Amino acid sequence: MGGITCAALGGAGALMTYGVRARSSSLFAPSVYRGAASQHAMALTFDDGPSESTPVLLRLLAEHNVAATFFQCGANVERLPEVAREVVRSGHEIGNHSQTHPKFYFRSPSFIREELTRAQAAIENAAGVTPSLFRAPFGVRWPGMRAAQQSLRLMGVMWTVIGRDCKLDTKSIVRRVLPRIDNGAIVCLHDGRELRARPDVGNTIEAVRRLIPILKAEGYRLQTVSQLICPTN
Ligand SMILES: [Zn+2]
Repeated sequence: MGGITCAALGGAGALMTYGVRARSSSLFAPSVYRGAASQHAMALTFDDGPSESTPVLLRLLAEHNVAATFFQCGANVERLPEVAREVVRSGHEIGNHSQTHPKFYFRSPSFIREELTRAQAAIENAAGVTPSLFRAPFGVRWPGMRAAQQSLRLMGVMWTVIGRDCKLDTKSIVRRVLPRIDNGAIVCLHDGRELRARPDVGNTIEAVRRLIPILKAEGYRLQTVSQLICPTN
C-alpha cells in the first residue's frame, strides 16, 4: 500500500512541480514560451525594470532599430514613471511582471489578483498602455493565477532561453544564450533586479550589445512578444 501511495504522491508531486515551474505548463495559467518555428524571428525580453539603467538599454536598442518587450514591476514603474513612458515612446512593448515581485507559492487567489491588478494600474498610469502579457516572477504559476490573468486579459509568457544574466558575466551570457536561439525563440534577460534601486545590469547591456549584431547577421527579425506570437500585430 505504501508503495502505491508513494507512487501516487510522487506522480502528484511531479505534476505540481511541472505545473508551477515548467516553461511549457499551462496547468495553473495559460502561457506561451515561444513563437512559431516557421518564422525566422525572435524576441528579446527584459524583466524587473524599469531601472535607472533602462535608458542605456533603450539607446542601444534604438541604435539597432530593435523592438523588445519589457516585463515591468509596478513598484519600479511608480519609482521611475518617466522611464516606463520612455520605453513605450521608443516603440517597445510593456508586459506586467506583478507589483512587488513576490514568489507566488502558497499565496491566495486574492493576493495574486491584487499583485497583477496593481501592476496593471501602475503601468497604465505611468505609460498610458494596458499590458496584454504577463510574466510570473521566478516563473512560478499558482492556483488563482488563471482567473487573475483572465480578468485582466493577460497572456502568460515564459521563455525559450533564460540568460541567467543576474549571475553570469557578459561573455558567459552570450555563450549561454546564442546557441539556444532558434526560430520563434523568446529570450529572458533583465534590466532590473526585482525592486532594487540602481541595480547593476551592465553585464546584460554589454551582452545585448554583442548579441544583436550576431542575430541580425543571422537574418533574425527581432520583434516584440506580441508580434512574435501573433504575427498580425
Ligand atoms: Zn523577475
